[in-house]
Amino acid sequence: MDFPIGCRWARLLYRMESISNLWHIIIEWILQFNPNRQSRKRVDGTLTSEGETTYRLIHTEQSQKVESMIKNIVLDFGHGGIDENGRYTTAPNKMFVHANGEPAYEGVLNRQIGGHVYTCLRSHPEFNVVCTVKEDDPRDIALSQRVKVANKFDPKETIFVSIHCNASQYHNASGFELFTTKGLTKSDALAEEIANAVEHIYEDVGLRLRYDFSDGDKDKEADFYVLRKTKCPAVLLECGFFDNRKDFDLLKDPIFQGNLGSFIYTGILNYISKQ
Ligand SMILES: [Zn+2]
Repeated sequence: MDFPIGCRWARLLYRMESISNLWHIIIEWILQFNPNRQSRKRVDGTLTSEGETTYRLIHTEQSQKVESMIKNIVLDFGHGGIDENGRYTTAPNKMFVHANGEPAYEGVLNRQIGGHVYTCLRSHPEFNVVCTVKEDDPRDIALSQRVKVANKFDPKETIFVSIHCNASQYHNASGFELFTTKGLTKSDALAEEIANAVEHIYEDVGLRLRYDFSDGDKDKEADFYVLRKTKCPAVLLECGFFDNRKDFDLLKDPIFQGNLGSFIYTGILNYISKQ
């Protein structure tokens, strides 16, 4: 393509788009060799008016139907987001200002990562996919309200996945972990499938997998309200530490978010297809 001499920006934009298209072609090419592939997914880039490229996981066709006794998938995006007045609707300990002045909002990251999981699951019309609070809804609804959404369905036909990011006292902890209630229940099987599906993403970027093998599986056990009060299998994910610079750089990266969301979806689907 010809550009007027000196039109560097147009040329740069054209090159960025070409690289983006090449990336799609490579992903599609790799995906075609996956015998277990259930859907064609790709990360799609869109150029914003500010010149930044934003990415979104896109399904190019309807996913293969999964036969299962699970009918309802409840996704829970932890805490609140930024409201129309630019106000963070959640407690200050659910955000952190990094050394360069950049704020990290846990509730925003939870919605962005969870939004990708939702997009993937929506390609299965056989499931009723429900969010306790929508991706673009900044309200920090009560924990009891989140549980209520899950408990209105038959627990034998439902699973609950809560998506969070973590923080630590000295802002130096790092890595991924997942939680279920105490004891061995179906929640542990769900957690194990999600852990198995996502762990290679964390290994690829050198982030720790904070597993607890003391009871024979990878999840940690905690008495979190949303896990204790939900009647169906329930798992809470801590996708990384938003107050750790390295973790945060990944958690806010649209490509990492898309990959992570896609593999959380894969783990959920692996569990569901065995029920
Ligand atoms: Zn949280």
